[in-house]
Amino acid sequence: DVTHGRILYLEDVHVSFDGFKAINGLSLDIAPGELRCIIGPNGAGKTTMMDIITGKTRPDKGTVFFGSTIDLLRHNEPEIASLGIGRKFQKPTVFEQLSVFENLELALKTHKGVKSSMFFRLDSAQSDRLAEILHTIHLADSVTRQSGNLSHGQKQWLEIGMLLMQDPKLLLLDEPVAGMTDEETARTAELFLTLKGKHSLMVVEHDMGFIRTISEKVTVLCDGSVLAEGTLDQVQADERVIEVYLGR
Ligand code: ADP
Repeated sequence: DVTHGRILYLEDVHVSFDGFKAINGLSLDIAPGELRCIIGPNGAGKTTMMDIITGKTRPDKGTVFFGSTIDLLRHNEPEIASLGIGRKFQKPTVFEQLSVFENLELALKTHKGVKSSMFFRLDSAQSDRLAEILHTIHLADSVTRQSGNLSHGQKQWLEIGMLLMQDPKLLLLDEPVAGMTDEETARTAELFLTLKGKHSLMVVEHDMGFIRTISEKVTVLCDGSVLAEGTLDQVQADERVIEVYLGR
């Protein structure tokens, strides 16, 4: 088993765009239940890496496995989503005219492939799960609120809740606390620590204070490969990392 029990395993991945090497020998793995932060300067390849994992971009070369048996390079984007990899982009995309409850219900319906919602009812296990998720995303008191009236942070949480309704094993999150107030950022850290263990998370973030509160291990990407890996203190003390952030 090449993946050594990892939930996500990338080995020597390469991607070029018109001869420019956006990903250049990237190797990285994530353990089940791990919460991993990815940092790196603009253009490091963070978005392209997530595009590869989710099947949006095909690498020219390399290995990308989900668990020990699933070769992600053999699957397309919708298949990868249904295998249990959820992705959240930076901007929240909740349905503003629907309530919090309706957004969560819709996410489940979409996941289950329910075409007509007329006769759709949550079963008791699904209702319990929805209630648990509402609590986790700090929206238990806002079930019937129209989503358009939520704060920016609450919309971000709702979107994470929508992903959770689809029971993902791995969540990829792009700058989840961008634009949040300090209080929302702190509550997002709490939310991520609740998810850790039950799900594996890969979080691209620039907010070092946030990373410090949530993270055990940080990966620094630069020029399409891993420059350093370790605790935030370790990578921040690394000469090569300092040079990349300050020297260019
Ligand atoms: P990051 O998310 O870390 O800022 P990206 O993955 O967006 O980095 O980009 C890595 C590099 O690849 C950048 O130099 C970017 O300009 C280039 N790049 C990304 N996508 C494309 C594309 N579709 N065509 C050409 N160049 C691209």
